[in-house]
Amino acid sequence: MTQIEIIKALSDNYIYILHNPINKQTAVIDPGEAHPVIDLLEKKGWKLSHIFNTHHHEDHIGGNQKLIDKYNCKLIAPKYDQNRIHNCDHYVLDGDEIDIIGNKGQVFYTPGHTIGHICYYIESLKILFSGDTLFRLGCGRIFEGTFEQMKDSLDKILNLPDDTLVYCGHEYTMSNANFCKSLVYNNDEELDASILEIRNLRDEEKPTIPFFLGQEKKLNPFLRYNDINFKIANNIQKLNSVETFKYFRKLKDNY
Ligand code: ZN
Ligand code: FE
Repeated sequence: MTQIEIIKALSDNYIYILHNPINKQTAVIDPGEAHPVIDLLEKKGWKLSHIFNTHHHEDHIGGNQKLIDKYNCKLIAPKYDQNRIHNCDHYVLDGDEIDIIGNKGQVFYTPGHTIGHICYYIESLKILFSGDTLFRLGCGRIFEGTFEQMKDSLDKILNLPDDTLVYCGHEYTMSNANFCKSLVYNNDEELDASILEIRNLRDEEKPTIPFFLGQEKKLNPFLRYNDINFKIANNIQKLNSVETFKYFRKLKDNY
């Protein structure tokens, strides 16, 4: 049974700690800074064995070196970032099957936000670490890839089961929800119910993460590029799926 802990870091990042009480291994996903990770590990009495990075941005890797120095842990990072993420023990590529503290994990190459971005999926636990590719009610900005690449990356995530729990890199949910409200929803009761739940969590300063992928498929505008009813509602039924994705992404960039 793998335990998962959520750490708030920097201004709006999340760092995730995974602990396997059987083999005593502990992993961290995207340590943007080291000290909150060290604090939690000390409180729990856990020793860090692995770091997993989704992409090279500083708010996801900034704590790597301090943690390596302190725990002598192994670093796993995307192959495409080999010149930008240093001291890595194992660079991974799309489709690689890797061990994540005793669980079988899978690497999805999801370029768009950055050209090397990857997500980590653990089928047996039904969890996805989506980094800055998919957020709740949103997706990452296109910095290094193309709109088409990002849409293809999101396709890979769309193929996962509805009961997948997604752990993403940032708490952007409330501002994403505001953007969603500026669009026309053909299922706005569902959106409003979700936003109410989100608002209640944020009022209590709780994370809106993790979230079920099934609900995102119905509500996240960046996952609805094949949803004809949503496209008709927004009067873009003539656009193909890449054009639809691009249309919403550009609207959000200027929102
Ligand atoms: Zn990023
Ligand atoms: Fe980020």
